[in-house]
Amino acid sequence: MAPKSLIRCLLLSGAFFVLTSVGIWLLQWSGGFPVMWPAPAILLALLAAGPRHKIFQALIAYILGGAAAMILFGWPPENAVMLAATLLQVAGAIIVLRRLRGNAVDWFDNLDGLLTFVFVAGVAMPAAAAYPISLVQGTDAFDNGLLAWFAWFAGNGLAVLVLTPLAWLALSGKIAGEVAAAHRSDRIVLVAALSGVALTAVLVFSQSTGPFLFLPFFPMVVAAFKIGRVGALLSVVILLAAAIWGLAIGAGPIATMMGDSAWRFQALQLYLATGLLTALPAAVEMEYRRATTRELREALEKLSRSERRARRLAHTDALTGLANRRFFLSELEEAVAGDAPLTLAIMDVNQFKAINDQWGHLVGDQVLKTAGERFRKAVGPDVLVARLGGDEFAVLTTGETRDGPGAIGRRITAALDEPIPAGGRTLQVSSSCGLVHSPSGEERTCSRLLARADAAMYHAKRNPAPHMMLFSSAMAAEESRKLRIQEALATPGGRADIELVYQPIFDLRTGRMASAEALARWICPSVGPVAPSEFIPLAERERVIRPLTWRLLELALSDAAQWPEWLSLSFNISADHVCTEGFSRDLLGIVEASRFDPARLKLEITETALLRDSAVATHNCAALQRQGIHIVLDDFGAGCASVTYLRSLRFDEVKLDRSLTMNSRSEEGHLLARGVIELCATLEVPCTAEHLETQQDLDRFVALGCRFGQGYFLQKPTSGEAIGAFAGAPKPTPQKSLVA
Ligand code: C2E
Ligand code: CA
Ligand code: CA
Repeated sequence: MAPKSLIRCLLLSGAFFVLTSVGIWLLQWSGGFPVMWPAPAILLALLAAGPRHKIFQALIAYILGGAAAMILFGWPPENAVMLAATLLQVAGAIIVLRRLRGNAVDWFDNLDGLLTFVFVAGVAMPAAAAYPISLVQGTDAFDNGLLAWFAWFAGNGLAVLVLTPLAWLALSGKIAGEVAAAHRSDRIVLVAALSGVALTAVLVFSQSTGPFLFLPFFPMVVAAFKIGRVGALLSVVILLAAAIWGLAIGAGPIATMMGDSAWRFQALQLYLATGLLTALPAAVEMEYRRATTRELREALEKLSRSERRARRLAHTDALTGLANRRFFLSELEEAVAGDAPLTLAIMDVNQFKAINDQWGHLVGDQVLKTAGERFRKAVGPDVLVARLGGDEFAVLTTGETRDGPGAIGRRITAALDEPIPAGGRTLQVSSSCGLVHSPSGEERTCSRLLARADAAMYHAKRNPAPHMMLFSSAMAAEESRKLRIQEALATPGGRADIELVYQPIFDLRTGRMASAEALARWICPSVGPVAPSEFIPLAERERVIRPLTWRLLELALSDAAQWPEWLSLSFNISADHVCTEGFSRDLLGIVEASRFDPARLKLEITETALLRDSAVATHNCAALQRQGIHIVLDDFGAGCASVTYLRSLRFDEVKLDRSLTMNSRSEEGHLLARGVIELCATLEVPCTAEHLETQQDLDRFVALGCRFGQGYFLQKPTSGEAIGAFAGAPKPTPQKSLVA
């Protein structure tokens, strides 16, 4: 046993010792009159009704304390009976307690339960203990047994069974002083019952007919329960008045039997206790009902609280606390169905992907959270702001607004002017915002408005700051053009018109063509020429980039098969595609089927691909490199990839971004280009300058020691056959100016 439990057990034993001693003393002092002292039983019952593991502690303490008291009093047999009787009471009390605690039963709710209670508490339990006592005392079993029965009934059995639950309720803080208003019919019953009580009491006390002593209790209990606390109180007062009066005039069975005044006093004591105790079940019952209603109310409140919470959660975005996509769309639907003018804005955080990749998701989350807060502040409290997902937000205003959609857009984009503190640094971010305004009376649909706001946002992104754009009819034309492109891209037949041209890459040291880069060209039948910079991202978005790439690769491989063997094929791979599982396996399958030498193939991949999912991309690249395919980092210097990528991913070549070429015309740009080229040289990665448009461009990069060069000045993209013929010519041109 732990020291704490041991101390508790000892303290309890002390308490039981004191209480049992008082009981035994009373028993002896009363000269054989079975005064039952309910205190130890009440305490035991209370303890035993607590947590299960404490029952044993309580029992041990009870046996220790009880035994010590009996040793003190010389161990008379009736004391042992008292201890045993107490245990019996406790068993009954525990049953009642457990039932009350679990609210398992409404004992006092119907007459059957009430009568059962009165019978058990008032008849069966006292009888079960009274007869053994009278037998032990060696007196007449009937007379003394009856007497003991009454005494028990008066002072003990009921007390344990009633007082214990009440004490428990009181201890657990459940008693409240609330008196239920009684119904009129209940009051009539009360008056009748109480009249009966008073009459019976007077009769009993004046007639000294012992067996009737317990009769008043039945109507009293019934009345108490019928009417609640007030009834119980009244019954107690009436009964006590009758008892005191009876005793005062020396009437009543006990007074008559005992004769002397000491006994009268004791009998009065017992009667007082009984009267009080009989009122207690009513209080328990009241409390029980009150607690039940309170619990019910609390449960209902809790339910509605959690329902409100669930509803709020279903409607809000967990990260930003703004409305979520679902809620926003339902609100938009409602607004669209109405006739009021509305403005819809869609915005996203520029370069969010890069922020996330570079600084980590925690910083990314912080940026989104702050952006959400700022957007909300920017548009005011009456405007719906939502996070649609990722870094995409939306705003919806309905009705006439003071300032037009342009002002809303400006406020939104200005919201991120201040840098955002995140992860111990401040980040300067910006947003792009596309707006669409729909006047009242316009025929509109949700998807149409969303598509228009979306289109406006893409325009805004390309605009110089502030990145904000209101959807216009010019955009409507573009929108339909985009739709037609998407439609054409979606089917293999539509994509079949996409062809390849090739742009040579020269070795600047020898002047020889080293490779030819395949570039897609498309004259879409329904739209006209579409640039790859437009349809490649669309193909990525529409998830047709894979079939498109494989078809183009097959085409390029069959073209390149006609070229001399020393000439490589450079082929662009979309960022999305490199990041997909199985990419390297599929590509190798195609190369193998074409019987093209993998060592002649160079794949150009932009650094954004590696930023997106570098694990899968790295795996794919490594698998291809093992087969001899060269991986070329395209557009190096355009994004924000750190130099470490260069090292960790082991590119075979690097292609400098066109911006490096164009900026190299200035002094700083020249320094930067030199730095980058020297870096590549240190890492022993050959680099290519693209976009060489003039003789000066070419001279500059030759002087910087750049290994390869490409650009309109050297050669514009041309057909596959032209490349073959050109490369096969005995003296490749232009070369005179290549070698410095
Ligand atoms: P990129 O890989 O950086 O390709 C170079 C782009 O610059 C090509 O534009 C090329 O025609 C152009 N260019 C080359 N030299 C010069 C020059 O001296 N001056 C100027 N002004 N431009 C020059 P294009 O063909 O429009 O391709 C644009 C981008 O589209 C490419 O950038 C590439 O990222 C992508 N792309 C093109 N074809 C494909 C393809 O088949 N698959 C994939 N995934 N992407 C492709
Ligand atoms: Ca390229
Ligand atoms: Ca490039």
